[in-house]
Amino acid sequence: MDGLMQPRPLTIAHVLERAERLYAHKQVVTAGVERVTFAGVAGQTRRLATALDSLGVPAGARVATFATNTRRHLELYLAVPVTKRVLHSINIRLSAEHLEYVVNHAGDDVVFVDRGLFPRIWPSAARMPRVRHWVVLPDDSGAEIPADPRVLDYDELVAAADPFAGSFEDSFTLAEENLASGLCYTSGTTGPPKGVLYSHRSTVLHCLGTLAAGFIGLSESDVVMPIVPMFHANAWGLPYGAMMAGASLVLPGPSAEPDHLLRLMESERVTVAGAVPTVWTSLVPGLRSHDLGATRFLLGGGSAIAPALSETYRAALGVPITHSWGMTEISPVGTIGGTRTQHRDASAEHRVAVRASQGQPLPLVTLRIADVETGEELPRDGRAVGELQVAGPWVAGGYFQVDADDRFTTDGWLRTGDLATIDGDGYLRLVDRMKDLIKSGGEWISSVELEAALVSHPDVVEAAVIARPDPRWVERPVAYVVLRDGSTATGEELLRHITPMVAKWWLPDEVVFMTALPKTGTGKLSKTELRASARVAQAW
Ligand code: ADP
Repeated sequence: MDGLMQPRPLTIAHVLERAERLYAHKQVVTAGVERVTFAGVAGQTRRLATALDSLGVPAGARVATFATNTRRHLELYLAVPVTKRVLHSINIRLSAEHLEYVVNHAGDDVVFVDRGLFPRIWPSAARMPRVRHWVVLPDDSGAEIPADPRVLDYDELVAAADPFAGSFEDSFTLAEENLASGLCYTSGTTGPPKGVLYSHRSTVLHCLGTLAAGFIGLSESDVVMPIVPMFHANAWGLPYGAMMAGASLVLPGPSAEPDHLLRLMESERVTVAGAVPTVWTSLVPGLRSHDLGATRFLLGGGSAIAPALSETYRAALGVPITHSWGMTEISPVGTIGGTRTQHRDASAEHRVAVRASQGQPLPLVTLRIADVETGEELPRDGRAVGELQVAGPWVAGGYFQVDADDRFTTDGWLRTGDLATIDGDGYLRLVDRMKDLIKSGGEWISSVELEAALVSHPDVVEAAVIARPDPRWVERPVAYVVLRDGSTATGEELLRHITPMVAKWWLPDEVVFMTALPKTGTGKLSKTELRASARVAQAW
């Protein structure tokens, strides 16, 4: 017997219309210079919806963005899905080859581009024949825009459109909650990028996950700043989450300069911000010269947050950096770190150790670990290490127009490619990515743990550990380290520093000093690039 509740679909249209009705006066601040209310954003969204009609963009078509975190990008986040089109947010740092691949693979009909980024994408336009329109999002970059009938101005387009006056939400049937709403490609570190196709339903449930108390717990009193780009896995759900909760949004715009970000956090009294660890590292030198007293929650994800980095924030602001583990395939948030009531009386070290783990799954997300060889499920005892697998209503069940059966188990769980333990309380601890583990003499060495130990040295800004082929041990770890300006620390000194923290045979064979480490398009350490340059430079 079925229940007798209303068959109301879960849609992004509800997020928009709720924000419009309940939180009309709340603000969206872009780069600290432009201030618009939710009512203003909703008004623009209603015009953009009919502008998309006037461009002849059909339902289901992919509408791409090539843009930084701005109010106009937010309007696209809303108008595209609520009109049953699919928002494809493109990583602005893709190589030309990957950029052309994803635009063509997605079959993008229109691309909305920040003016400042236009010179980066336009040279590829001839190799993207299906794109009918290029719409320029104005900024003060002064970048040259060619006179071409396919190129339009966003503000003119929107201003000329009549606002849609009805309810977007009411236009959806129950079945349509499963319509695709967004498309994000994973980075192509192993083969070409793969598209993850979100639905309205998955996005709304994920959005509620970001509101869950005890996790990120976004609420109306928050001022939320996604430093993480809106093209990086939906800025971790923060834009939709903030609108659903009625929290003000601070969007940093094109600049990722540490001083710009710190000034914004200070002047806007930001309470919640999210960024990858390399960004949090870049803000450390300026932390004490800004009043960040409004901060209540700092999210770090995309790669492991070294405990030393998190503790630096806790010492300076009273707020650690909390782990958010996720993947593009998980919309992206799977777990959130932090302690529980049972840890209140625990020792300081134990609490640091709990905070260093990736934390607990959000409600509706289920995790398990499986033996890498046999696929058999392993115990949740905090010791057994296996491949992390995940299931939930905002977890991908396949990729857009690509067969990738090897990424899913026969019972439909996503294989993450991460190695992890899960303890009796459900806490996840990532050991390493399977492809980054170092195999030495038949035993595994975690690059993540070595990196965390290295950055606990006060002079180390960043560290990456990769495997070097070794005739005797198969592989041995080599550390690449960036020191603080003026530091005279030596490799021997760093190895002495980490000796008490790791097994002796884990100690890297060599410490190589660099001025910077290579980064991926989403600002994470790029071990692929590091391996490639190490192979060339050191003739491995
Ligand atoms: P990619 O890094 O391949 O571009 P994603 O951004 O989706 O794609 O990254 C997902 C991966 O990032 C995870 O499988 C995991 O290895 C790593 N990751 C994400 N969050 C964390 C975290 N909090 N701690 C450690 N690793 C993380």
